[in-house]
Amino acid sequence: MIRIFSCGAGGSVSFGPHAISHHLEKHGHTVKVYDFVDKYTKHQIDYLLRSFASEDIVCVSTVFYVNDKNKNIDYILDSCRVLGIRTLVGGVNPTKTESDYSIIGSYTENETLSLINKLTKKIIYTPFSISNNDFVWSSSHRMMKRAVLPVEISRHCVFNCKFCSYPSRGTKGDNRNPELFRKTLDSANTLYDSSVFILVCSTFNDSVEKLNVFFESIKNTDYEFAAYIRLDLLVKQRQFWPLIKKHIKYMTFGIETLNWESGKAIGKGTNPEIVKKWLMQVREYFDDCFLYSSFIIGLPGDREQDAISTQIFLSSTKCLNGYSFNSLYLEYPNGGKTSQSVFSVESAANGYTIMKQQDEIASQSYINSSAWVRNDGYSSSEAEKLSKSLNMLEKRKLPSFSMAALRSVLTMEKLRDTWYTGTFGVDTSFDQLTTEAFKTISNAYVENSLS
Ligand code: SF4
Repeated sequence: MIRIFSCGAGGSVSFGPHAISHHLEKHGHTVKVYDFVDKYTKHQIDYLLRSFASEDIVCVSTVFYVNDKNKNIDYILDSCRVLGIRTLVGGVNPTKTESDYSIIGSYTENETLSLINKLTKKIIYTPFSISNNDFVWSSSHRMMKRAVLPVEISRHCVFNCKFCSYPSRGTKGDNRNPELFRKTLDSANTLYDSSVFILVCSTFNDSVEKLNVFFESIKNTDYEFAAYIRLDLLVKQRQFWPLIKKHIKYMTFGIETLNWESGKAIGKGTNPEIVKKWLMQVREYFDDCFLYSSFIIGLPGDREQDAISTQIFLSSTKCLNGYSFNSLYLEYPNGGKTSQSVFSVESAANGYTIMKQQDEIASQSYINSSAWVRNDGYSSSEAEKLSKSLNMLEKRKLPSFSMAALRSVLTMEKLRDTWYTGTFGVDTSFDQLTTEAFKTISNAYVENSLS
């Protein structure tokens, strides 16, 4: 049997391991996925491992793991070595050396099937294709009732923002067949009563064609979605606004900066004053949607005052339900072995020096984030400090995807009440409620896999 340990992200099960499991099962393998593996105790992991056979293959997905959340992975890999069970680690940049095999990349159906076939001496192989992806949620997934589940309608992004390391960026790939996509949604609805979904596609609205396919496939349903949305495209796609308002209840934008020079440098060059107006228009029209955006500190040309002004604008207008500031993420260039951003690969040309020493420290974990210094002397540690202090100013700013995931255990009314009532600032009741809700969700999966 193939056993896949998967991370849960922001209260939702993560999609990749289930997508790979579906592809393996279609080719005759028996697979079991264990979601939210970082929530298991050592005792629970021991209990599971005792039931595994020596010919099993234990796979671990590392996509969402950073730093201290890796402790269970280390424990699983070490225990498997002692028990003589083969291990495979997968992820965008897996750097763990304790496993027998590793596969680098995201959505690696083909590579994983090929390797597992070799290890199990099976020969059936048909290449994975997104347009004919017939993934459905089944009873063997053992999801919780009303689960908010990840789904995909495509796997590409036509843009190539210079800070982005998403592997399939800058490509024009296929969309899923609308009937097959609908079957994915209906399978979850029938089995688990699910009606809220997380679209894991990196950019939901990058083409009118994709929007047509999507809305055609969900016709006559009340399904709700969380999605990554490009704000600049959304304002040009007004013909879709009524449908988007009905179905996309949780939007995540990547505005990244309200400094014009920085925006131009990353490939998002709209005048920030216009971006602010767009935000206000979108806020007014999509009045019952959760809107969220991330902002980057340390882009070419930005100053500390820019981030502070942005925070003041967001806080005073309340045009977003949530936002976060993050230090620019750069990796020490590694010869193109893994997917890296343009800024990482061409750091000197873009005005950055990336520290190798930090990279070596980072290689102990599953991510390769490196310290950097900009040509004007501004550094990643200053950017991190500023991000932290700005993020502390507002407590209620969970990402839209996490808000969507909370629908498994909270009603929309409860979410809205909790989100909007009270003054902005520290709100312990919100923290308590969301912490409890996330715990309920992850516990449900851990208990399921142990029973
Ligand atoms: S940041 Fe978003 S829009 Fe830009 S390349 Fe990456 S996935 Fe595409």
